[in-house]
Amino acid sequence: MRNRKESLTFPSVKLEGLSIIGYERAQPCGKPVTPTQALTGADLDPHYYWASENDVERAAALAAKAFTQYSRWSAPRRASLLRRIADLFEAETPSLVDRANQETALPPARLQGEAARTCGQLRLFATLIEQGWWASARIDHGDPSRKPLPKPDVRPVQLPLGPVAVFSSSNFPFAFSVAGGDTASALAAGCPVILKPHQGHLGVSEMVGSIVVQAARDCDAPEGVFSLLFGPGREVGLALVKHPLIQAVGFTGSRAGGRALMDAAAARPQPIPVYSEMGSVNPVFLLPGAVAESAEALATGLHASVTMGVGQFCTNPGLVFLEQGPAAQKFLEKLADLMRATPAGTMLTSSICSEYHQGVATFSQTPGVKALIQNSLSQAGKVASAGAALFLTDAETFLATPALLQELFGPATLVVHCSTRSQMLASAARLDGQLTATIHATSGELESNQDLLAILETKAGRLVFNGFPTGVEVCHAMVHGGPYPATADGRSTSVGTRAIERFVRPVCYQNFPDTMLPEALKEANPLGIWRLVDGRPGQH
Ligand code: NAP
Repeated sequence: MRNRKESLTFPSVKLEGLSIIGYERAQPCGKPVTPTQALTGADLDPHYYWASENDVERAAALAAKAFTQYSRWSAPRRASLLRRIADLFEAETPSLVDRANQETALPPARLQGEAARTCGQLRLFATLIEQGWWASARIDHGDPSRKPLPKPDVRPVQLPLGPVAVFSSSNFPFAFSVAGGDTASALAAGCPVILKPHQGHLGVSEMVGSIVVQAARDCDAPEGVFSLLFGPGREVGLALVKHPLIQAVGFTGSRAGGRALMDAAAARPQPIPVYSEMGSVNPVFLLPGAVAESAEALATGLHASVTMGVGQFCTNPGLVFLEQGPAAQKFLEKLADLMRATPAGTMLTSSICSEYHQGVATFSQTPGVKALIQNSLSQAGKVASAGAALFLTDAETFLATPALLQELFGPATLVVHCSTRSQMLASAARLDGQLTATIHATSGELESNQDLLAILETKAGRLVFNGFPTGVEVCHAMVHGGPYPATADGRSTSVGTRAIERFVRPVCYQNFPDTMLPEALKEANPLGIWRLVDGRPGQH
């Protein structure tokens, strides 16, 4: 790596409003768009030009060329690229936070935390790939003398898929954006990345894109290991997904968007995997014993989880199941008081805010649904202000109204009164796939509700006990996924180190000479990694 120390003082990025293709800027073409300040609606510099078809073509060709080299980089070399991105990101955090705050209205403290999480995530993947065990190297030694047929020597290891298109999310301008989890896990796996930034934070996307490119240069990475293409999802984004050189897609956003990408990828002559993380209502089941023990504390915890970040989390608890009774009433009154007192907040974009307003209107007009709290909803000019909303319905209405299963992205939740335990079970069975499901129960209650738990295990990627679903720990053990429609493929996670598994596939070498095997599979185990050898796990 060149001049690591010197260039740690990465100069504040000069924004040009142009896509980045390999190590060059795209040419301006077409009519530019102007980003706006989320809080005031005021215009922000510079104007942004969308990538052309030709830019998509060049980025894809460069990525494919880069793949031939980058996929063969050693793990320590790939780790140094990830660490370099983290170091530059860290050095640039104050200006990144400032721009992200202007573009998204997310508070600086939240953004600082997210920046640290993003750097931690990059470094976690660096450590993971150096440890090597993640690649599931296995060896079954051959036995030429076996009768009636000789046994072959077979050795599989996980290898990268190829160039990956990543669609960044609106609600995490760092951690699920340009250098976020999808990019980190794809680069860690050995895949070049072409990034389609979210239009809600164009400037900060360009800044982070420049950081990734600088890191790639510093590490002498092949040109095209990373590109960033501005433009509409339906044009630039879909062109990427359909491009024959792209081999996988990472996405976080709406069900409509994620599904469009899944359909486009499936319709290709060569279908490719799309890992879309989409909507989830994250049901919370409050069992009567827990509510009797701590109705007010539960209301306080739930309120914080629903309204945190103006409710703009994919793990926001949008459905609460509650058995009727005096303690349930106390819980509901406290929750209503807290929701009523919640000030309106600015949402990430005006379109997300108008979708929230429409969703609130739909819920409040649904027969059998009562709007207990519907704080003022205003959208003056371009400014996206959202008030908290609390809805109440009964299990019969819930079971008969599929629209109530939809994600209402924002500071709102729907409480479903169940008159019996069997109604609660029926409601659980009615749920779509979810990122999370939560149970609040006394320990005895949990044991006597194993039927509820068994249903929820089939519905969600993460089950939370006596807690709240917002706040996703980035670690080796995390699962941030769930059956469709929460994600495209419930066997995967987009948070935590397992996310790397989305961008690799097992390749098995049969009867190969040792010198020609990947390092992870060589007989002497030169990497010193954990492997499964003749069925025995160990560092051999
Ligand atoms: P979105 O509309 O799904 O957009 C996310 C990305 O996908 C954007 O880059 C967008 O491109 C692209 N896209 C959307 N529809 C597409 C299509 N049909 N074909 C190709 N590309 C497409 O998500 P959003 O803007 O972040 O928020 C909208 C809604 O998504 C929210 O109201 C909320 O319901 C949901 N959401 C969910 C999560 C979650 O984690 N579950 C997170 C954020 C948002 P453009 O640049 O053209 O917009």
